[in-house]
Amino acid sequence: MTEMMTPAMRQYYEAKQAYPDALIFFRMGDFYESFGEDAKTIAKELEITLTARGKDKTGEKMPLAGIPYHAIDTYLPRLINKGYKVAICEQLEDPKQAKGVVKRGVVRVVTPGTAIDSSMFSDASNNYLMAVAGKEVGKSGKNTEKEKEIEIGVSFLDISTGEFLTTQFRDSESFEKLLSELARMHPAECILPPSLYKNTDLASRLKDQTIVQEFAPEISGTGEAGEKLKTHFKVATLEGMGCEKLDFAVYSAWAALEYAQTTQLRDLTHINTLRTYSNSEFMILDSVTLHNLEIVRNVRDDGDENSLYRSLNCTKTPMGSRTLKKWFLKPLLSVEKINLRLDAVEELAATPLLRYDIRNWLSEVRDIERLVGRVVYGNSSARDLIALKRSLDALPPVRDSLMEKIGSGLLKEIAERLAAFSELENLAEMIEKAIVDEPPVSVREGGMIKPGYNAELDELRDIASNSKRWIATFQQKEKEKSGIKSLKVGYNKVFGYYIEITNANSNQVPEDYIRKQTLANAERFFTPELKEKESLILTANDKAKALEYEIFMKITQTLSAHSRELQETAEWIGVLDVLTDLAEVAENNNYIRPQLTDNCKILIRDGRHPVVENTLPGGFVPNDTEMDCKENQFLLVTGPNMAGKSTYMRQTALIAIMAQAGSFVPASHASIGIIDQVFTRIGAFDDLASGQSTFMVEMVELANILNNTTPRSLVLLDEIGRGTSTYDGYSIAKSVVEFLHNRGKVGVRALFATHYHQLTALEEKLKRVKNYHIAVKEEGHELVFLRKIVPGATDRSYGIHVARLAGVPEKVIDRANEILKELEKENMLEDAEDSENGKKRKSKATARYTQMMLFDPGSGANPAPASRSDSVEAALRKLNVEKMTPIEALNKLHELKRLL
Ligand code: ADP
Repeated sequence: MTEMMTPAMRQYYEAKQAYPDALIFFRMGDFYESFGEDAKTIAKELEITLTARGKDKTGEKMPLAGIPYHAIDTYLPRLINKGYKVAICEQLEDPKQAKGVVKRGVVRVVTPGTAIDSSMFSDASNNYLMAVAGKEVGKSGKNTEKEKEIEIGVSFLDISTGEFLTTQFRDSESFEKLLSELARMHPAECILPPSLYKNTDLASRLKDQTIVQEFAPEISGTGEAGEKLKTHFKVATLEGMGCEKLDFAVYSAWAALEYAQTTQLRDLTHINTLRTYSNSEFMILDSVTLHNLEIVRNVRDDGDENSLYRSLNCTKTPMGSRTLKKWFLKPLLSVEKINLRLDAVEELAATPLLRYDIRNWLSEVRDIERLVGRVVYGNSSARDLIALKRSLDALPPVRDSLMEKIGSGLLKEIAERLAAFSELENLAEMIEKAIVDEPPVSVREGGMIKPGYNAELDELRDIASNSKRWIATFQQKEKEKSGIKSLKVGYNKVFGYYIEITNANSNQVPEDYIRKQTLANAERFFTPELKEKESLILTANDKAKALEYEIFMKITQTLSAHSRELQETAEWIGVLDVLTDLAEVAENNNYIRPQLTDNCKILIRDGRHPVVENTLPGGFVPNDTEMDCKENQFLLVTGPNMAGKSTYMRQTALIAIMAQAGSFVPASHASIGIIDQVFTRIGAFDDLASGQSTFMVEMVELANILNNTTPRSLVLLDEIGRGTSTYDGYSIAKSVVEFLHNRGKVGVRALFATHYHQLTALEEKLKRVKNYHIAVKEEGHELVFLRKIVPGATDRSYGIHVARLAGVPEKVIDRANEILKELEKENMLEDAEDSENGKKRKSKATARYTQMMLFDPGSGANPAPASRSDSVEAALRKLNVEKMTPIEALNKLHELKRLL
């Protein structure tokens, strides 16, 4: 064995062997040390000094990097956020009492999705671990390749709050749905069983968005997973949790729990229920739409500034913020359930005083879910208990006020739920009686328990504190006995209590003194009496600390026994907080209650964009939206750049999302026919990282939309076809309009902003298409944006005006105007030639719309032979787009393009 292979190093290597894929934080005194390769990684990632010490197994200098133990909250999250796992190897006994080397062992492994320390995540978000299970299943009857369906179970576990959710779906688009769930839940980490991890396409798409680990639970199959879950929850059946028959949901739930347990190295009893949800209860917002509409994160930096959630969040508690986010991520489909929320918001909006009181009380409430998580988990401090007590103290008045003053169903239910656990008041009282108001951070150093709470503790403290008095008396007595004036009694950590006599008085040392230590100019002694007192004092101190810890642990055990009630209470507080928030926001922003219906009408009067209007106080121009399945199913919106098309389309979708989430909306009237999914294709975000061109991304998104809309969906399309040549783009855009218009019996509700003014001619051909444009006014050279949406098409792009606004040099602008005039003249000539040759002449209106199209296939400027476009049209009509995969759609498009 080499020099460095000390017993401590042996412990280190054992830990490394047990957790080879983790970095080891090895506690040595006041530091967490790391060695070897780990040290190099840690030094590099944390930008801390790398040193070397002793020799390793091969006789080389051993790299070493350490961080002070108290700085772990700063450093650990930085490693975890970069995707590292860290195994914390602690000293398992007090070094003072250890015989030989201090015992050490790994106490937990920290991974992104299983972090419990509050420094790892924000209060406003859940920290989910996502687990997936699934396999391909052939579709009954026709087992063709295209129709292979995949059954997927997916679970989300937040061990910091105890929330645990699962769902299962079976579809040929299962992976897409899975990615939508991922976008919505934003897990910190995802675990995949080996079979799915091997699917490199899936794994890499997941890895784009979160940290992915391969993890195989140690079970034989779904049956055993179910048994294990039942044992964990102490239930005889999973029926009550809604997943008894959902094998993959159950399997994924167990995988999540087992992974959490193997990293936390303990039973996670605060995870005491599993909830099964079904996506058919919620409006689907896929990752593209969440991104485009900036529901909880913005496009700019992925932060929450300017997101819908942030603009409407004035909740008072972390439970409230998290719940609000969930409501916007999962708007409801049931008119009845939405109205329950709206009734409550309406009632709170109408009772400002009550609302004010509730919000005041809620400001006293801390993060109960996470406090309880820490209590059950065993890493809470006395400060956490005080925070919990203050939170619980705030509740009775809220509950009583709600009971007295409230009529609406959901608020009543909240009041009842808060009243259901009346023993929570006893818990608060228990903490109040036992714990001092401002306890220390550490739970091992004493000072947490109030005097008078425990007689034995009081006595021990008495002994310890009386010791000072006793020592003073003892010193006086010994001075008198020996006649040495300079005699003094002192204490140090190594030698304990002693009597010190300077060398000058060494001849007067009483006979019963026993020598303890010799210094340069003095001797130190003790007497049996002092020794006895010393052990009494020291043990009293240690005993008092130990007893305090014991009392503290007993209190946390009582609290743990009520964790479920506490967590449920926290959840209802979250709901109350959100309802009060929405009422407050509605009042402050002048929102109204929307009406929800099961038909397909959308009627919004004076709608505003909830986020943009805040950036333009008083300057936002409200607009109406009218959609139905008759004349107004497909709205084609034209208007120059910067006119406000995109804002208008987004505001329509956001108002619907807010309404279905249970919020009031920025309008003077809104009635929304329930929307099952909002699809968006907006803007051109280059996905260079994945090697896809802008156009490819656009087409993949488009294919998804064309394949998956239902008659209840709402589609927003902005500038489809822009990423390719004018011919291609126009053809695709036109074909898309036709397809969505004719989809099913009633078509799909869609808002389509376009630069292809020719498309507006479709209003005449397709009966449910309606043209709108956003008005602008020309004042001399200036272009004035009126921001008002008006029926009818526009005939101008005003591109040159916008270029002027942007500061393009006057010379270029003038020349552009000249060229434009020439082109317009040519176009008109050709139109005239067309008519002279006896060809079918376009209506006057259509001719005007098409002026701006430089190579308009229909205008004759550069005509595409009719036979070719006809064959394209015929080919498009034959397509069964519902059955096509995005890639097939793309290939088909290329094929069609070649036809032209
Ligand atoms: P487009 O999609 O037509 O290019 P945008 O929707 O991006 O235009 O709007 C451009 C800018 O116009 C927005 O950033 C916003 O500041 C302003 N805007 C849009 N709609 C309105 C409105 N209704 N009232 C006031 N300003 C608006």
